[in-house]
Amino acid sequence: MRALVQEHQEKDSLVLKEIPEPKVMPGWLKVKVMAAGVCGTDVHGISSLVPPVVLGHEFSGEVVEIGEGVEEFFPGARVTSETTVYHCGHCLYCVEGHFNLCPDRRGLGSRADGGFAEYVLVPHTTALIFPEHLSYEEGALFEPFACAVHGVVEQASVKGGEKVLVLGPGPLGILVGWLAGALGAKVLLAGKSEDRGRLHIASRGPLYDVVNVDEEDLNLRIGDDFGPYGADLVFECTGALPAIGSGLELLRKRGMFIQMGIIHKPVTMDFDRFLFSSELVLTGSRTQKHSSWLRALEILDKTHLPLKELITHALPLEKWREGFDLTLRREAIKVILHPWK
Ligand SMILES: [Zn+2]
Ligand SMILES: [Zn+2]
Repeated sequence: MRALVQEHQEKDSLVLKEIPEPKVMPGWLKVKVMAAGVCGTDVHGISSLVPPVVLGHEFSGEVVEIGEGVEEFFPGARVTSETTVYHCGHCLYCVEGHFNLCPDRRGLGSRADGGFAEYVLVPHTTALIFPEHLSYEEGALFEPFACAVHGVVEQASVKGGEKVLVLGPGPLGILVGWLAGALGAKVLLAGKSEDRGRLHIASRGPLYDVVNVDEEDLNLRIGDDFGPYGADLVFECTGALPAIGSGLELLRKRGMFIQMGIIHKPVTMDFDRFLFSSELVLTGSRTQKHSSWLRALEILDKTHLPLKELITHALPLEKWREGFDLTLRREAIKVILHPWK
């Protein structure tokens, strides 16, 4: 079968090639991949990658073969899958249900073969049948949406009426904003002039408003829309140092700052001002865990978010390089690759 394989740690070792079709094992499902989303981490490099491996951790497809001992799935079932295919089960984090923090965690598309291929194997314990009203393309968005659920619901417990600032209108930032908005929060999503197209699309979801910080003073907007104290919560989804600085400035005392973008370098900050004097709560949100997926399924079934709007490009797997470039240049919001088109 055709698969997009990263052969070494270096990003330029990515190659579309023929590899043997995977054979289903007891307890696993063989899934014919119908849609697979390109993630920023695929393009910028995945730190936990163990090559050679098929990339692709955001996908959906049709169950074509069922391993021994699996009862709750049937051929033809439309599924997506959690990315954690192995966790040790006995470390402190596993015992507490925080599989995303297990040091031995193995994720699809980084340490196990992922979805940029004609077929992928997934354990039946991580596969999820998704609602009929969602397309395969939308099904491939469950992974980033589960990341948003982990940040918004599990880390920050966003509630109705809270004032939320989201920095960065990439796919994750938009999903974070939409989810917080759907939960009743008043959400401002901020981006820059090069994000104009993304901000425009984001404004079709349940946000209070979008702000282009190159054209408008974000401080003034926060004052006008959130009042003199500032935001209750800031979700940082850019990974850029200046955004982190302004996010901290715009929080009210005792507010919460949630880091969701990857920065790739250390950050300095004024502890006296932000932690001692303002009692800010700082935390992060790393990928998702089992509970995030179950909640994502429930929320996407009930809340009709305009997920389709995020899919700006759909390409055959052969054109993966074009899809990666569109993602790298931030021209796309979400690129979907189709192995069978
Ligand atoms: Zn991703
Ligand atoms: Zn563990």
